[in-house]
Amino acid sequence: MKKIIYWLVGVMLALVVLIVGIFSYWYLGAANYHLTGVPVLNYHQVNDKYKTALTMTTADFEEQMKYLHDRGYHAITQKQFIQYMRGDGALPDKPVLITFDDGYVDNYECAYPIMKKYHMTGTIFLIMDLMEKPGYLTWNQVQSMSKNGMEFGSHTISHKPLPSFDENRMKYELTQSKQLMEQKLGKRVTCIAYPEGKYNDLVKTQTKAAGYSLAFTVNTGRDFPWDDPYELDRVPFFEGPMSFEHFEFRLIFSAFSALLWNTHAYLAHTEWCKPAAKYVPQP
Ligand SMILES: [Zn+2]
Repeated sequence: MKKIIYWLVGVMLALVVLIVGIFSYWYLGAANYHLTGVPVLNYHQVNDKYKTALTMTTADFEEQMKYLHDRGYHAITQKQFIQYMRGDGALPDKPVLITFDDGYVDNYECAYPIMKKYHMTGTIFLIMDLMEKPGYLTWNQVQSMSKNGMEFGSHTISHKPLPSFDENRMKYELTQSKQLMEQKLGKRVTCIAYPEGKYNDLVKTQTKAAGYSLAFTVNTGRDFPWDDPYELDRVPFFEGPMSFEHFEFRLIFSAFSALLWNTHAYLAHTEWCKPAAKYVPQP
């Protein structure tokens, strides 16, 4: 009996040491991209007008940009990120790639001035069919931001999930959006964010064939050079109001957050263990 108790205590201690070790590694290594990868932050709307699931208030967004600035994070460019993914070129200390999906007009009106204030730049993924529509960016705004260091990527023509298309329409969504943006911006378009984060093997092959260097999903996690450049993770900041502590937690413990998000997604998509998904939190 005594032996079993010693054995159990031993196992418990080993587990505690392991868990403390892993969390210390994440915490101490959070700022070192060689150890924990590069976080690609994913926003949608930043405004004080709407309170949708995609909206972050300007005060919260400012607090987050100020935090990144004060803690010595550096917003990197698409080119720097592409080089990193290819395994060449060192990044500045504490790199982050800041991204916005859908091209909401508040990215220009609210997010962009705050980013400028804290010397941050980022990438906005545009939907061609929604450009110039109420609530979305105009080409003039895009061009003006482009001149001032903001970057852009494709979020396709229609924003319908790419796997829902036949091969021809898929090609059209990928190549036409790229061409149109290149015409309007006078710059090469190298990045895409898959609408709704949805992709499959054909989508990845066609995205590469269309000439994109990187493709972003809405899967949670940080990115390493050995990851698939057509299946890149991001750290989500678009599920409604979010406390500052939650932002900091998700930025620092992206890997832990990703582990739980991925476990949740796996369970939710696996028939026999679906009910278990609701017990896995998505911190
Ligand atoms: Zn979208």
